[in-house]
Amino acid sequence: MVSVIGRALLAVTDRSAVRSLFTDTGPGRGLATRFVAGETLDDAEAVTRELNAMGFRVSLDHLGEHVTDVGQAVGARDDYLACLDRIAADGLDANISVKLTQLGLGMDDALAEASLDALAARAAAVGTSVTVDMEESRHTEATIGVYERVQRARGNVGIAVQAYLRRTRDDLDRIVPLGGHVRLCKGAYAEPERIAYQGRDEVDASFDRLATMLMGAEGVRPAIASHDEARIAHARSLAAGRNGYHEFQMLYGVRPGLQQELLDAGLRLRIYVPYGSAWYPYLTRRMAERPANLWFFVRAVTSRS
Ligand SMILES: Cc1cc2nc3c(=O)[nH]c(=O)nc-3n(C[C@H](O)[C@H](O)[C@H](O)COP(=O)(O)OP(=O)(O)OC[C@H]3O[C@@H](n4cnc5c(N)ncnc54)[C@H](O)[C@@H]3O)c2cc1C
Repeated sequence: MVSVIGRALLAVTDRSAVRSLFTDTGPGRGLATRFVAGETLDDAEAVTRELNAMGFRVSLDHLGEHVTDVGQAVGARDDYLACLDRIAADGLDANISVKLTQLGLGMDDALAEASLDALAARAAAVGTSVTVDMEESRHTEATIGVYERVQRARGNVGIAVQAYLRRTRDDLDRIVPLGGHVRLCKGAYAEPERIAYQGRDEVDASFDRLATMLMGAEGVRPAIASHDEARIAHARSLAAGRNGYHEFQMLYGVRPGLQQELLDAGLRLRIYVPYGSAWYPYLTRRMAERPANLWFFVRAVTSRS
């Protein structure tokens, strides 16, 4: 869910001069380290080990999206295959989260689907799973279509759904019967009113309705992905009546105190850990969600001058 300030921020950060202010300066890179584990698989492994030792599960996101050629798409698939092999070799309690546009969706949809299938097969071989992130609304239908086919074939794939999209309630009628894990989040992109709730209250109400649906559904594995205490409390109130598996999820670097609190209360909590050199679009979404994050950057820049 993106506020008016957040929308403006997303528009400004898209400009290349602003981009290089973040990617080419110490303070910009410093801000990134709060939300990103590092640029390499070794960095991601170190953070995952630390989180696992504390009792958190992890979902590893090798950053990247909207590739523009086949070589990049195949490279992204291969990076994820290496990540799965590392999860297996080191016995990490982790799965992977993947953006389909990183695997070629929008450029070569068949390639993206074949790559997701290859990742799901390797994940199954090493005893873990794959979650498909949800991106901008122009990719929603294709993402769900690819998900449906690969989940039917493999059985270890999950998908993220966005509470701000008006269509999500109907999408769950297609997704829930497939029995995968379903990550419910508010949604991180700027979407038009025609298709997406705009107000905080509307998005929150939609989130709670969808959480109620998911937590009441048989055979599906809900993942409540939010740092909003009221949304978490609502989902927790539904957990008492639930038989099957469910978990909570939060982003690396966001509300670590609350993360620890939920863990201490005995909840299953998975931390979404991004890594890789393509961290800029991810960072701009974290800033748009909470423009106050920019303050860390501004303070660091001004204290240097
Ligand atoms: C595990 C996980 C996976 C996700 N996957 C997707 C996805 O596939 N597709 C998608 O569109 N979105 C995804 N998101 C992002 C999500 O849609 C929201 O944009 C984001 O989680 C903020 O919403 P919130 O539910 O935390 O509630 P908010 O109301 O935005 O935040 C609640 C409180 O959390 C804190 N907070 C939230 N965000 C930040 C931040 N960036 N920095 C500092 N504090 C913050 C603040 O204290 C805020 O008051 C994911 C989120 C999580 C947790």
